[in-house]
Amino acid sequence: SLFNLKPNFILHNYYQNFNRDFSTHHIPSKLEGKIALITGAANGIGKETAAKFINNGAKVVIADIQKQTGEETASELGPNASFIACDVTKESDVCDAVDFAVSQHGRLDIMYNNAGIACRTPPSIADLDLATFDKVMAINVRGVVAGIKHASRVMIPHKTGSILCTASVTGVMAGLAQHTYSISKSSVIGIVKSAAAELCKHGIRVNCISPFAIPTAFVIGELKLYYPDLKDEQIAGMIHKAGVLEGAFCEPSDIANAAVYLASDDAKYISGHNLVVDGGFTSMKSLNLGLP
Ligand code: NAD
Repeated sequence: SLFNLKPNFILHNYYQNFNRDFSTHHIPSKLEGKIALITGAANGIGKETAAKFINNGAKVVIADIQKQTGEETASELGPNASFIACDVTKESDVCDAVDFAVSQHGRLDIMYNNAGIACRTPPSIADLDLATFDKVMAINVRGVVAGIKHASRVMIPHKTGSILCTASVTGVMAGLAQHTYSISKSSVIGIVKSAAAELCKHGIRVNCISPFAIPTAFVIGELKLYYPDLKDEQIAGMIHKAGVLEGAFCEPSDIANAAVYLASDDAKYISGHNLVVDGGFTSMKSLNLGLP
């Protein structure tokens, strides 16, 4: 029995096993053979994530409202990427995108609800434009709920799956964006918890990522409305300067790396979580006392 073994034999075996586990030459890709659907993946964070998923062994369906750019992105990313036109405000489009992924590849392992927009609205809640509010909520909130609904429909029978959503630091901390966008993103964090609480019993994990500001197309477009005379590079510089972590900027690849982690089995016990990728921004408030 185990009790009769000499201690150094046990130790020897322990180290052998230890060495065997850690001396593997072939490091398997984190998403080998997984099937993923990413909304809003024609551009920006979604596109970067699609590329990283593919580099990690996944097949990716890109679902985006921009048909031509989406098709170009899919052909740029190669044979493991495909495209389906999808407006996340239409439940039937989201339903069709999920069914397309399943019909092409047999199942869906990863659903990343990433499509989102910002809209310039009056800064005061007293002047809030509720038509704009409804439009943003239809994409950023209702679109995410539709994505979770239809992904879980096909994942529940398999008792496994990873659902991701893009929230934002503006949903964690108040005063970083106009109300409509902030409210939509704090809703995403709530939706993730609510869905995770039910889907855990089906073996499905649900998480979100909250990026700091990244100068992607919509952010530059948004800030250009406020600073029409600035060039894109100047706006990008402004965004980078707003970060607090010395020596680094928040980039789409930082979000893509977080998504690969959360989608992979490395995060097999993580659910209902909001992974903030902000270089410490939401943890600190400097007092500006001029101290060293
Ligand atoms: P982006 O504009 O580069 O990409 C957004 C994509 O979503 C586009 O390809 C667009 O066509 C698509 N889209 C818009 N409306 C859609 C709809 N109705 N149906 C389907 N697709 C639609 O912007 P991004 O920065 O890559 O944004 C991706 C996500 O990240 C968004 O949810 C955004 O709110 C969030 N986010 C961005 C930042 C940032 O600073 N860039 C920070 C925090 C969170």
